[in-house]
Amino acid sequence: MKILLEDIPPHGVVVRANLSTDWAFQGARAALGADPTALSVDLRVERTGRVRVVVSGKISAAAPSQCGRCLSAVSLALGGDVSLVYTTPDKVADVEKSVDSTVNIDGDQALDEGWFDGIALPLEDVVSEQLALWEPARVRCDGAAVTRLDDGECGVIAYDEGPVVKRPSPFAQLAGLKLPE
Ligand SMILES: [Zn+2]
Repeated sequence: MKILLEDIPPHGVVVRANLSTDWAFQGARAALGADPTALSVDLRVERTGRVRVVVSGKISAAAPSQCGRCLSAVSLALGGDVSLVYTTPDKVADVEKSVDSTVNIDGDQALDEGWFDGIALPLEDVVSEQLALWEPARVRCDGAAVTRLDDGECGVIAYDEGPVVKRPSPFAQLAGLKLPE
C-alpha cells in the first residue's frame, strides 16, 4: 500500500493494519524472515515539507524464530513507538529550507531517516524498516524480546561432549568370519 504525498491532508492521515492486512503482513514477514503470528500497526503519516514525510505511532509484531545459542524454537516480539522520517536524497537541500514547523522533528531523540521517491510512500517498507531497526543482532532465549518455546534450559550445544554415538558398521557381521588361508 502506498500513500501518495499529494493525498496527505494537512492534519496527516492515520493508517491502521493488523495480521489480516496483506501489505502489513508482507512488510513484517520481510523483516522477521517468517510469517508473523501477531501484528498491530497504528501510524500517522504527516507531510512536513515538499518531499518530507514523518511517520509516527506504534507498531508491534511477533514471529517465530530460533535461539542462536541452543537452537530452541522461540517467539520474537518487537514493538514500540515509531518515529521515522522519509525524504528524497536529491531534494534534501530544498526540503530543509521548506520544512513546516508544525511537526517537531528536532527533538532530543535521534530520528531514523529513510529515503523514498518523493511521490508515494510504500507502507509495507515502513513496517519492514521499523521492525528491522528493532530486531536484536542476536536472538537468544534470554533476550529481551524473546520467549523460549521449548522445554529445558538454554545452553550451547556441545557436539564434542556427551555419549559417542556409533553407527552399527555394515561390516559387523564379517567380524566373526574366518577366511580360508
Ligand atoms: Zn537458547
